[in-house]
Amino acid sequence: MVQNYLPRYTLGTDAFEKIPEVTSGYGRKVGLLYGEKAYGACKDKLLKQLKDLTIVHEEVYGKEASYANIERIVKNDEIKDADFLLGIGGGKCLDVTKVVGDMLNKPVFTVASIASTCAAVTKISILHNDDGSFKEIYRLKSAPVHCFIDPEIIVNAPSQYFWAGMGDTMAKHVECVFSSKNDTLDFESELGRTISILCYEPILAKGEKAYQDVKDHVVSQEVEDVIKSIIIATGAVSISVDPAYNSALAHALYYGLTVREWMERKHLHGEIVSYGTLVQLLIDKQYNELRRVYDFNRKVGLPVCLKDLDLERNDPLDDVLDATIVNPELDHIPYPITKEMVRETILNLEDYR
Ligand SMILES: [Zn+2]
Repeated sequence: MVQNYLPRYTLGTDAFEKIPEVTSGYGRKVGLLYGEKAYGACKDKLLKQLKDLTIVHEEVYGKEASYANIERIVKNDEIKDADFLLGIGGGKCLDVTKVVGDMLNKPVFTVASIASTCAAVTKISILHNDDGSFKEIYRLKSAPVHCFIDPEIIVNAPSQYFWAGMGDTMAKHVECVFSSKNDTLDFESELGRTISILCYEPILAKGEKAYQDVKDHVVSQEVEDVIKSIIIATGAVSISVDPAYNSALAHALYYGLTVREWMERKHLHGEIVSYGTLVQLLIDKQYNELRRVYDFNRKVGLPVCLKDLDLERNDPLDDVLDATIVNPELDHIPYPITKEMVRETILNLEDYR
């Protein structure tokens, strides 16, 4: 038996107007879980559309997507009374909302307040410890029922999330194609890999304009198209492909680089990953694509060299590379990648112009 959950979504500056209709078969009692800033940005537009529903509970999810926050919410009697949940926020908030819905067997709807990850539509939650360190991936029984995306909210959120989201999204295509290279794929993995081109080409074509529009707080076609790449296309890939094809060297190197504890304080996930995409393309001798992604990264200010990640060229990176090559994201790749290969590729990238 196979099951797939391709994302269902409504996108537009009037997207919230569809909430009553889309949720109508799921009851009238809603529990709201949100990030404080996200809710502040959405509240006026959102509450107008919830006026015929009863909000039985509302709560700021917390700061981390952690079991402590999930367990606190799950124990709440008001949330147990909800017919469905509506999560409003970024990845962490939506990851918490999805697990709460899973544990309480309640349908989950999402409002994506930033375009940074595909958490609004996927069937997994990435959980952290309360100190922010990675805990585990929680596999949900089902994906969110429907995601509402208002680009006006997204262009008024801090632009660096959109910027880093572009980097993380482009990696999806590069890593999925690489890790599945020599395999015969089943229908779902082939579906996801085919969709993954929409994580890549639209951003190369429209990302620079879209990012400028986000910085100017302007909703444009380019902004909407890149949002769809970041949230919908990436989500569709993540949901469809065998987990072995979800990531490869770009993410393994990200995990390696975060061995330096300051790395994630100074740089965003997708920003660090986008450097790994360049290393991934160079190690695989994808010179044409390397040229395109390198030029794109330069234009929008994503990293192209160690200095952009506050590392020195002559840093031996032993700790980083030791952690990279044992990362599970490299368990399924078309040929072995050694520490020396990654080190040499990083140095070659330093000289690349
Ligand atoms: Zn990522």
